[in-house]
Amino acid sequence: MSCRQAAWLITARLDRELGPLERAALAFHLHICDACPRVVAQLDLLRAATRDLRDDLEQGIQSEAR
Ligand SMILES: [Zn+2]
Repeated sequence: MSCRQAAWLITARLDRELGPLERAALAFHLHICDACPRVVAQLDLLRAATRDLRDDLEQGIQSEAR
C-alpha cells in the first residue's frame, strides 16, 4: 500500500468503519511507515478537539434551552 492509499483509508476511517481487510492493510502500513502514523496522531488530536467542541456546543445549547 502506498502512503496515498493509506491516507485515503485514514480519512475514510473518520467517516465509516473500515472492513477487516482495510483495517489490516492500514495497520500494516502504519507499522512500516514513518510518516503516516504522525498523520493519524494529528487527526486523532483534531478529532478529539472537535468532539470536545461539539460536546461544549451541545451543552451550551441545552442550557440555553432550559
Ligand atoms: Zn505511509
